[in-house]
Amino acid sequence: MQGISLPNSQIIDPRAYFRPAKVPQPATPALTLDSGPHYTAGMELQWTQRIRLKQGDITREAVDAIVNAANISLLGGGGVDGAIHQAAGPRLLEECKTLGGCPTGSAKITQGYRLPAKHVIHAVGPVYRDGRSGEPEQLAGCYRTAMALARQHKLRTIAFPAISCGVYGYPLDEAARIALGTVRDELPRSPRIEQAIFVLFDARALAAYEKAFKELSSSDENKK
Ligand code: ADP
Repeated sequence: MQGISLPNSQIIDPRAYFRPAKVPQPATPALTLDSGPHYTAGMELQWTQRIRLKQGDITREAVDAIVNAANISLLGGGGVDGAIHQAAGPRLLEECKTLGGCPTGSAKITQGYRLPAKHVIHAVGPVYRDGRSGEPEQLAGCYRTAMALARQHKLRTIAFPAISCGVYGYPLDEAARIALGTVRDELPRSPRIEQAIFVLFDARALAAYEKAFKELSSSDENKK
């Protein structure tokens, strides 16, 4: 057969026309429990777009779950715990009585009853002593367990108060770094979570969280 001879530069490589289409890869690596094609909402966003800070009363948040700063008995107390029980009505306490308490650094979930939120995640923060008695790990444990419960219950929105920053005396700046850092680290394995909202009761708490948020996001930028 008589071939047509082309100079090398004109030889057409068919592979150039059959490149596989680029398949977009999720931003998050190794998804676990929640992996699947339907649950990509949160994954498309950076953590800085999935965490929100606001000043307000957490009992008014119409989210899938609000987190409570409870005590080990889970039988109600003052501060945000009192406000949540007040707004949820007596059936919340009835359900809490069936839970057998909760260790410090962990959390348990109930229904939300009369609250606009569907669930309450009761987290038990540490009483602050000196910061060297396991408090940072225990505080991080509250946020980690709350996020794990949110995954188990397939929640999309969750609101946190400043756990341990009231009567339990945790310094705000330190607590804000732990809270935001822990939730940021949990988000990649929680693709269903679209919004994690930190609802800070007063301007001082909001300012501390804003500062910690800026520090965390700029340290992420520097790593790039
Ligand atoms: P803890 O015993 O864990 O310190 P507190 O309830 O005393 O818990 O306080 C935790 C944080 O919750 C404090 O920053 C407090 O100002 C705040 N707080 C109190 N009431 C509310 C509310 N209704 N909504 C949001 N945050 C609240």
